[in-house]
Amino acid sequence: MGALHQGHQQLIQRAAAGLSDRPAAALVSVFVNPLQFGPGEDLARYPRDLERDAALAAEAGAAALWAPSPGMIYPEGVEQITQVHPPTALSEGLCGRRRPGHFDGVATVVVRLLALVRPARLLLGEKDWQQLVILRRVLADLGSTVVIESCATVRDPDGLACSSRNRYLTAAQREQALALPRALQGAASLVRGGERDPAVLVAAAAQQLAAAGLEPEYLELVEAHSLRPLQQLQGLALLAAAVPCGPSRLIDHLLFMSRAPIVAIDGPAGAGKSTVTKAFARRLGLVYLDTGAMYRALTWWVQHQGADPAQAAAVGPLLEGLDLQLRHTDAGEQQVLINGHDVSEPIRSPEVTAQVSVVAAHACVREALTGQQQAMGVRGGLVAEGRDIGTAVFPDAELKVFLTASVAERARRRAQDLQERGYAVPPLGELEGQIAQRDHLDSSRAVAPLLQAPDAVELITDGMAIETVIQALVDLFRSRVPEELWPSPRH
Ligand code: C5P
Repeated sequence: MGALHQGHQQLIQRAAAGLSDRPAAALVSVFVNPLQFGPGEDLARYPRDLERDAALAAEAGAAALWAPSPGMIYPEGVEQITQVHPPTALSEGLCGRRRPGHFDGVATVVVRLLALVRPARLLLGEKDWQQLVILRRVLADLGSTVVIESCATVRDPDGLACSSRNRYLTAAQREQALALPRALQGAASLVRGGERDPAVLVAAAAQQLAAAGLEPEYLELVEAHSLRPLQQLQGLALLAAAVPCGPSRLIDHLLFMSRAPIVAIDGPAGAGKSTVTKAFARRLGLVYLDTGAMYRALTWWVQHQGADPAQAAAVGPLLEGLDLQLRHTDAGEQQVLINGHDVSEPIRSPEVTAQVSVVAAHACVREALTGQQQAMGVRGGLVAEGRDIGTAVFPDAELKVFLTASVAERARRRAQDLQERGYAVPPLGELEGQIAQRDHLDSSRAVAPLLQAPDAVELITDGMAIETVIQALVDLFRSRVPEELWPSPRH
């Protein structure tokens, strides 16, 4: 809606930076949308300064700024436009309670602008969290291919979240407004100190606001994606507030998570999981946990000890006192050590590959390695790749992806991989048979079989470039975990 500030500038900069495999042109629309203002709201006095907006947009790297007239957006008038009505469960609480119809107006204009501009991606600030949640839902429900990318709230040095409406504030009101970010920070420090009761957190923040002479329109703790009230602090929680201050209405929030995020990537052999998961982990600053390497290392050890991989009674004793470690060298290469042996290379041999599913099927093996993997994930901050991560190891992962490809495609990739690593390449038909056999063993075993978790997103990678798959994972992650809580490292 214009009156651009640093928050908008960050969105423009991000858009203009493009993606790692695609340059982009950042297009900015400035349109004060009458449809999202209620009677008695500030439509008439909403700050408008197109020249300044153009300068700020250009400075941030925008390729073009488009400031349509209401007639261009609503040619037959606002009464005649098809309206988008987001689900009331998302739009009637928080800001929607005092602003009936507001989110219909927002959704309607955004769908209209996107239809006219047809961009690949839409950048939105996390500050207007409810709007972000609603627009994600609306675009998904309408089958839009536009990807939403969200950016963390930008704050002025004094802590106040940037907002076009801040310019309504006098110096004294601005000082008073600072009580809002402070109250939220106060709640955050209570959480850091172990407080888990929403009522206590809300009361503490309300008290700080009251001390500054502010009375919130709402101050609530809700689950961040469903916006449903939370009875206790769990999952991704949002403490959100709208607070009238002088002529302005401030909105701000804080997000909480009980641990750093976990991503589970499962799928059959040869779907390209390792390559993309490794790159995805690097891009998001997550630790990469290759659980297949653990099953492979154990298989190598079983073979090295001359034990029969098919006999649980022979494999079981080898698990006692097992020292299995995954490390990363300075160059970022994964090192796998078992009982002091560096087996990083030999675990990729066809001999290990041929037996690993048999070893991995034993209940005692699964129990031991699952326990070790869960211990590695207690604090989160990792992406684990395997067969049973979303179903058995980390069932509460923030994001679960089932990454797969046809057998033919996987056989082609496997052949290429073997060739690059200097192994003999069997005919494609034979490789397809081996892959199908491993799929069968992995998905039919009694304990923790390879399964797509009901809440996993399926990604079929046939014909997708590696970079496209990585970007799809990053976008999925970002739709679950806001920048505010887990910022992307800037490379
Ligand atoms: O992914 P990778 O091919 O290295 O996995 C090797 C084998 O380890 C799989 O075929 C499967 O039998 C086993 N595995 C498993 N559970 C996991 C990861 C791998 O059973 N989480």
